[in-house]
Amino acid sequence: MKRVLLKLSGEALAGPNKTGFDEATVMEVARQVKVLTDEGTQIGIVIGGGNFWRGRTSETIDRTKADQIGMLATVMNCIYVSEIFRYVGIKTQVLTPFACGSFTKLFSKDRANKYFDRGMVVFFAGGTGHPYFSTDTATVLRAIEIEAETILLAKAVDGVYDSDPKINPNAKKYEEVTIQEVIDQKLAVVDMTASIMCMENHMPMLVFGLSEENSIVNTAHGNCSGTRVTV
Ligand code: UDP
Repeated sequence: MKRVLLKLSGEALAGPNKTGFDEATVMEVARQVKVLTDEGTQIGIVIGGGNFWRGRTSETIDRTKADQIGMLATVMNCIYVSEIFRYVGIKTQVLTPFACGSFTKLFSKDRANKYFDRGMVVFFAGGTGHPYFSTDTATVLRAIEIEAETILLAKAVDGVYDSDPKINPNAKKYEEVTIQEVIDQKLAVVDMTASIMCMENHMPMLVFGLSEENSIVNTAHGNCSGTRVTV
């Protein structure tokens, strides 16, 4: 694949700790991303913030402010993962839709393209920069903007199911599903705003479990053991 957008949920980064970072998990992601960048695949990354904070879970403070904290959590995640990537020899840049002083650079499509051309992994931190959105929406938005071939959606669950496999032991995993079915049946892939954007802009997704061995590389090589979401 020439260019992909990899989404890592904050929860997946936390590994067994459930909160903060699990360095072994992030090191393993870095190893797999290095394999792909060495092959010439350009990789953009969006990371969630759920390992620190989710705006919608606070009932006491103003939602806009709660969401700002969530967006800052994604910046922390990107800076951390970017540094682990650099440790294993990957060149990186972190872009945000709002100014973070010298911590990050402001996002623009031209700037992202410049860094891709230089062989860098580009982190799209800070979500969309707006409250009431999610990193799912940011993932689809950036994937469309950078004209990614597909979204690689690395999750704690290993694909798309017809019901929650944690609750229903008979839940059936889809090998392939259309984005229209995801929307109609409200399947838990990405949120509704993000799903509609995928449909309208014909952006496919490959959904897989981050904890499965070599899953990022295998999926990018066309061997997705999870679910293909077609458009
Ligand atoms: N967020 C936001 N706007 C965005 C992206 C994220 O307000 O464009 C905030 C929101 O509060 C969200 C939090 O950041 O709950 C963390 O993102 P998300 O819940 O998507 O993280 P994940 O669940 O994937 O770890």
